[in-house]
Amino acid sequence: MKWLYSILLCLVIFGCSQEENCCPPAEFLVGQMVSNEKDFVSVDSLYGRNSILLDSQVYKAFVLMADSAKKSGIDLYILSGYRSFYSQKSIWERKWEKNSGTMDDSKNANHILRYSSMPGISRHHWGTDLDLNSLNSEYFQSGEGAKVYQWLNANANHFGFFQPYTTKDKGRTGFETEEWHWSYYPLSQGYLDCYLQNDSIEDLITGFNGAQFYRIFDIKKRYVQGIEMDTIEESIQ
Ligand SMILES: [Zn+2]
Repeated sequence: MKWLYSILLCLVIFGCSQEENCCPPAEFLVGQMVSNEKDFVSVDSLYGRNSILLDSQVYKAFVLMADSAKKSGIDLYILSGYRSFYSQKSIWERKWEKNSGTMDDSKNANHILRYSSMPGISRHHWGTDLDLNSLNSEYFQSGEGAKVYQWLNANANHFGFFQPYTTKDKGRTGFETEEWHWSYYPLSQGYLDCYLQNDSIEDLITGFNGAQFYRIFDIKKRYVQGIEMDTIEESIQ
């Protein structure tokens, strides 16, 4: 199905012909530009804060999913959607500053990378990924949160969403488990392919403390590619 998504991406988003390389520019893939402002919409206050932006196609799929969840007594609430390189940079720099007195640079970068992206490596840059309900794993372990997680695991795939950062027990590398982070496969998979084959991305990961670890830690392979694909590829055909 990968070719189909690439072509869709090409025609719908970037309007280029099949013969051209239809990937978006590297600047888009690292969150330094929005593909086209009309592609992004604000979230209705029913589903999250108005200031949150998502790709319109992703948002449409999310609304269908959230409305279906609601019928089963499950409330889905968006905590975070699109994030630019620059907003990720301020998150990174705040954490970097906080740790820099107690850790050397390499340790600091590793520590932040457990749960937070370096600017330029976040799937949130694409407007295809969202964080739901709580940024705390414990919330999803019992009570209401466990019901939410169970519902998502049983149903999110039907709406195109999957959890990229699952348990690392089976050898997945990169970020720790994030039960709250869900991605819209029909768009994000095309962007991921484009990201992985774009050699100029590395040149754009610059301008903040610790940027050199992008190369040193092989971030592209270990983090950007460090996602769970099995379940979604089986269920979305
Ligand atoms: Zn996230």
